[in-house]
Amino acid sequence: MGDGALVLFSGGQDSATCLAWALREFGRVETLGFDYGQRHRVELNCRAALRDGMASPRLGPDHVLALPVLGDISETALTREAEITVAANGLPSTFVPGRNLVFLALAAALAWRRGLRHIVLGVCETDYSGYPDCRDDTVKAMQVALNLGLDARLVLHAPLMWRDKRATWALAHELGGDALVELIRRDSHSCYRGERTPRPWGGGCGACPACDLRARGWAAYATGHDDPAP
Ligand code: ZN
Repeated sequence: MGDGALVLFSGGQDSATCLAWALREFGRVETLGFDYGQRHRVELNCRAALRDGMASPRLGPDHVLALPVLGDISETALTREAEITVAANGLPSTFVPGRNLVFLALAAALAWRRGLRHIVLGVCETDYSGYPDCRDDTVKAMQVALNLGLDARLVLHAPLMWRDKRATWALAHELGGDALVELIRRDSHSCYRGERTPRPWGGGCGACPACDLRARGWAAYATGHDDPAP
């Protein structure tokens, strides 16, 4: 197994920064996206623009796996609610418990097939305490489970684990300067509602928790101060 990497690449700010990080760290990088519903098509469209903007001899093929089953077990589908609602803990009703565990199992299988030793994912503990499958302990436990189950020596990397959104913008600047920051600002997508209305910090509805987090992180980065309180 070589020293290439597979990046879980949704087209959001975090995974776009992870792709840039992987292109610095590894000689061969491939990307993986999951298509599991209408609302996420906008993220998938953003992926192509980001990959074009980071084109490099190191950047290999993109893979997209269709996972409609995830849409089938979201609360929105189960309760037949058309509107995406956001619970008190900040999680949207489309959230699927344990989603990253499914993503990692499929990513590991693909990495094994492609001869890629490293898997890079943009999860972090700093901003989304409501997502237990984004925690450092979960990622470390999954690495052990996947290596036992595949009889492999895959290495999971979560370079954003302890960075907040301001620090993630700062990492993008370190990796590719203003040009990379602008590419990610313009072409990455975070909004839970799938909207792309232009904002100073990118595109989005401006009201959902993902937009709020992104707006505050951008403001903190742009002004050089700490993340302001909500
Ligand atoms: Zn939004």
